[in-house]
Amino acid sequence: RVKQDGRNAFSFYNTDMNRDVQRTLELDGRLRQAITNDSLELYYQPIIELESNRIVGAEALMRWNDAKFGFVSPEEFIPLAEKNGLIHQLGELAINKACMQAAEWQKISPLQISINFSSVQFRYCDKLFKQICHGLTQSGLPADKLDIEVTESLLIDHSDEVVTLLNKLQSMGAQLTIDDFGTGYSSLSYLHKFPFNKLKIDRAFLRNMHANDADRELVNAIIAMAKALNLKVVAEGIEEQWSADYLRFINCKYGQGYLYSKPVPAKEFELLLSHKLKPILCGQ
Ligand code: C2E
Ligand code: MG
Ligand code: MG
Ligand code: MG
Repeated sequence: RVKQDGRNAFSFYNTDMNRDVQRTLELDGRLRQAITNDSLELYYQPIIELESNRIVGAEALMRWNDAKFGFVSPEEFIPLAEKNGLIHQLGELAINKACMQAAEWQKISPLQISINFSSVQFRYCDKLFKQICHGLTQSGLPADKLDIEVTESLLIDHSDEVVTLLNKLQSMGAQLTIDDFGTGYSSLSYLHKFPFNKLKIDRAFLRNMHANDADRELVNAIIAMAKALNLKVVAEGIEEQWSADYLRFINCKYGQGYLYSKPVPAKEFELLLSHKLKPILCGQ
């Protein structure tokens, strides 16, 4: 009996594993195709100035709607692209599309565009620098409208080239933001060792802020620290009015979350811009 259970457990694990490997292989090929066919799209989520409720920025978030698998989450395909090397092409796509879009939106609103960068893209600093410069020149977007989001993982194993590149980008006028702040492994000393302008409080802290005193204290502390270091703060994952009110009360200047809008296609984002802001709950 014991033996049989053991065998079942093993074969269950085995088929499960096979299915994962199968899916990964298939996604790998289809992602390559999606890049060739130019079928990856950027959605945009508004970044709000909490005091005025106005849209001051847009975060570009990649969307992949596959014919067979449907919407595949970036939480799945970005790590995959980091492993198979496609991240460099995906990154280039994001830069080009987002800069073009943001340059066009400058006619309506002086908003800033936030683009996510994976640490893997910083393995080839020269290539990355060229991609960013190309994105800016071909679109005509002023560098100070570009906000570069990186995560704390970039700061752990960084090379001197990474520091040089970040400094170069900042001296061109680009903004540098630490994304998902508070969940990584970085030490606080990184905050002034690297030339950051802004930090984004991870949405994990927002989720329980209502019920959890410790999370609320952490958010207070992050905002006080950011102020002392002259960093702007964006709170991500605002879902409830209560959070927005509290954040405003403790002088957190910017926010982003489903309360205002989910990430939406460019056309829908334009509607948000022209209506100033009306929370909508469509998109993905
Ligand atoms: P991120 O940069 O931290 O982006 C924020 C994520 O939180 C997005 O998920 C967004 O849809 C989601 N979000 C925003 N507001 C709320 C809210 O109120 N509640 C909840 N529950 N979620 C909210 P998404 O679009 O699935 O992206 C996941 C991650 O994938 C991003 O995290 C980013 O790290 C990565 N990613 C997305 N697009 C790109 C890209 O073009 N390049 C790179 N390198 N990474 C990307
Ligand atoms: Mg981000
Ligand atoms: Mg984030
Ligand atoms: Mg994230």
